[in-house]
Amino acid sequence: MKSLNRVILKLSGEALSGDKKSGYDDVIIENISKQVKEIISKGIQVGIVIGGGNYWRGRSNNNIDRTKADQIGMLATIMNCIYVSEIFRSVGIMTNILTPFECGSMTKLFSKDRANKYFEKGMVVFFAGGTGHPYFSTDTGIVLRAIELDADTILLAKAIDGIYDSDPKINPNAKKYKEISIQEVVEKKLGVIDMTASVMCMENKMPLIVFGLNEENSIVNALSGKISGTVVTV
Ligand code: UDP
Repeated sequence: MKSLNRVILKLSGEALSGDKKSGYDDVIIENISKQVKEIISKGIQVGIVIGGGNYWRGRSNNNIDRTKADQIGMLATIMNCIYVSEIFRSVGIMTNILTPFECGSMTKLFSKDRANKYFEKGMVVFFAGGTGHPYFSTDTGIVLRAIELDADTILLAKAIDGIYDSDPKINPNAKKYKEISIQEVVEKKLGVIDMTASVMCMENKMPLIVFGLNEENSIVNALSGKISGTVVTV
């Protein structure tokens, strides 16, 4: 496995709330913070993108204008990053939160130079607010940041433990891929990340590691190649 110097980790909003389905499960978040601390102690730079599904998803709220619904979704991702960043700080991790639009004193405006400066200082950098545009998702947000910041891989920590050939909740015989090319993910429309994000990964040769957040030490293990999830090659 290629040595990894910079990774961007995606946590879905839903994963943060565990069985509660909304808000935060502190046990889960503290567990993530300990694993991230271990990873940065090895000199690996870590960026984090968090979804907003534990509060709000623009596309699920058809009663209001989609652009406005997506704006609420982007704000939800910022709330999540502020919360998780504070938990990280409580275990001694230095953090900073960057957003693609101004949020006053709550976050700092994203730029590549600023992100690089924080990474070099050993900080965990949160990329909140997605792309800053409606009709996108935090999946596209993470791929965009990973590409422009030359990350070595994207880590997708999910409620499900890898990529399957069909939905294992519906099909008990669904088969999990140990390895699959991004081309196949796109062609088979496997939906591990949304289609726009998959195509961006394919065009820009950005690999992914997909694994279950609930498995013990799964983020650390994914980085050392000990995963029971799926490696997406480019
Ligand atoms: N969102 C957006 N543009 C972006 C990223 C996110 O409009 O670039 C909004 C969109 O409404 C989305 C919500 O933020 O539904 C939460 O993000 P996402 O659905 O990716 O969260 P997840 O499902 O991963 O928790």
